[in-house]
Amino acid sequence: MANKAASKALLNAPCRCGSKRKYKRCCRTLHAGAAARDPEALMRSRYCAYALGLVDYILDTTHPDNAEARPDRAAWAREVAAFSQATRFVGLEVRSSAVHEAEGWGEVEFRARLLRDGEDLSFAERSRFERAGDDSRWVYHSGEMLPD
Ligand SMILES: [Zn+2]
Repeated sequence: MANKAASKALLNAPCRCGSKRKYKRCCRTLHAGAAARDPEALMRSRYCAYALGLVDYILDTTHPDNAEARPDRAAWAREVAAFSQATRFVGLEVRSSAVHEAEGWGEVEFRARLLRDGEDLSFAERSRFERAGDDSRWVYHSGEMLPD
């Protein structure tokens, strides 16, 4: 993971999350271990991780109660890797985000543009994020499809 995410060209390239910042000044800090400051930052870093094939990051930032979370981590990782490799991550548009810090959850509405074998797999979603784990970091809990 570290090597894949650390080439110089990649570090200076525009971040795949659509922030218009360089990767090294954007999602790279989260991929290298920093905690996301809010659900939107985590959401962006997850989209970027899918685009870069950072499978462990996807798994580590998914709530254990998520419907796609699997007890067999290796099998789950293979699924995520296969999806990441077969898909082109064309762009991300964050439409809104809200944080309920006192209750430890937040929501992000976004549209993700994806292509696979020439097929448009783009979708819009409202994602729910919660603070979880020993260090109380933001993780992706669940998502609800929205009209495109
Ligand atoms: Zn980014």
